[in-house]
Amino acid sequence: MMTASEIRRRFLDYFARQGHEVVPSSPLVPRDDPTLYFTNAGMVQFKKLFLGQEKRAYSRAATSQKCLRISGKHNDLENVGRTARHHTFFEMLGNFSFGDYFKAEAIRYAWEFVTKELGLSKDRLYVTVYTDDDEADELWRTVAGVAPERIFRLGEKDNFWSMGDTGPCGPCSEIYVDQGEQMSCGPDCGIGRCDCDRFLEIWNLVFMQYDQIAPGNRVPLPRPSIDTGMGLERVAAVCQGKTSNFECDLFQELIGFIAALAKVKYGSGDEEQDVALRVIADHSRAAAFLITDGVMPSNEGRAYELRRIIRRALRFGTLIGFTEPFMYKVCEKVAEVMGEAYPDLTENKGFMARVVREEEERFARTLGKGLDILSEELAALAKAKATVVPGQLCFKLYDTFGFPIDIVKDVAEKQGFTVDEKGFTACMAEQKARAREAWKGSGEQDLAGRFAALLETGLSCEFVGYDALTAESKLV
Ligand code: ATP
Ligand code: MG
Ligand code: MG
Ligand code: MG
Repeated sequence: MMTASEIRRRFLDYFARQGHEVVPSSPLVPRDDPTLYFTNAGMVQFKKLFLGQEKRAYSRAATSQKCLRISGKHNDLENVGRTARHHTFFEMLGNFSFGDYFKAEAIRYAWEFVTKELGLSKDRLYVTVYTDDDEADELWRTVAGVAPERIFRLGEKDNFWSMGDTGPCGPCSEIYVDQGEQMSCGPDCGIGRCDCDRFLEIWNLVFMQYDQIAPGNRVPLPRPSIDTGMGLERVAAVCQGKTSNFECDLFQELIGFIAALAKVKYGSGDEEQDVALRVIADHSRAAAFLITDGVMPSNEGRAYELRRIIRRALRFGTLIGFTEPFMYKVCEKVAEVMGEAYPDLTENKGFMARVVREEEERFARTLGKGLDILSEELAALAKAKATVVPGQLCFKLYDTFGFPIDIVKDVAEKQGFTVDEKGFTACMAEQKARAREAWKGSGEQDLAGRFAALLETGLSCEFVGYDALTAESKLV
């Protein structure tokens, strides 16, 4: 069996042999980029190279990049645990060309890697190209030998990639694996037609050609470039004969650990229990990596996203019977499972676990307070013969006590109330817009960003005295 670690290594080795510089993952908190909360793809650390604003000694690179998709254009939070292929935190394997090679080589490398290095059968593979990209269509047939009936043309949504509302972008071409008829969602199942897990997208090759400078305003990049991304967990699952990311080796150990801790069994037929186990495993990885990259849970911006993800995991924890802090233990386990590839996790394990534990304890306290207030409010509503819990109230509980709406619903519905979720969502949206505004103003000067930048330059591990101060003030 090919482990995820082995796939990661093979990928980097393969591209090193093709003249690529192997570059370490950048932190989850992008440096110098106020347009983005978190690194959501491998290209993020190379954005300036694509834009021609920076030059380096190499024009080809390969990485295994830590990614997080919980906000902005790429947001998979609600998918986690429900689909077999989405995580919040995942690793993206990528090869990049900065004005060096273009479509033909990108297609040749990807095809060779998938069919020869990973040994996936061509009979299971399909590819997609952007609506009018005849060139890519032709290259898949001539360079890779893909049969025409295995090539699909898809529109903007699937085959035009952009990092966010602004930034480098371009048409793309993707490789899919057929996971078998037993996975089909019905007669309408097919690439570009449904969103089920039978046809699994594994690799996206982006033909970077434009810079989106504003909505509706795209200008050409100085030189056409290549940016690719392949999800490590997805490809590991496929290579290991599994049909869900959560069954690849990286996750199995973690889920087994959580199940043992909760004294339940994964895959026992209780779907909600399995969802909870997957969500906790996923969110624990996200929290462990975020804290290691310098983010601390709090009420604003990135820090709020971390708090949200920890509390979401805790909420799922209560569903499978946890009554005591548990997530910090899972996060320690994450450090054990992933520490070899990401030594930072091992180095900061104690600190990271303490942060999670404190957040768990804080949440337990606020949960108690929130429940008290909620029962008072419900009593008042009942007295006034009201049957709907106002969205404003849910928001107040959420905002002041970090009290999740699911809990309000559980409690209120048991007493015969309905909950104004729309009103709640509206309040949330308003607050998010406010938080984003506040955060934009501070840019990369926020503490988390500075911490991450310092970590990346290695200043945190040794006493560097005044140099650190100087380096830090340079970053500000
Ligand atoms: P999907 O359509 O399945 O949501 P995507 O088109 O949003 O994926 P891309 O933005 O093209 O994904 O990212 C490149 C690759 O990264 C994908 O082909 C996939 O292998 C992987 N990937 C994307 N999102 C996730 C995720 N949430 N969890 C795990 N892997 C992911
Ligand atoms: Mg997606
Ligand atoms: Mg897609
Ligand atoms: Mg895609």
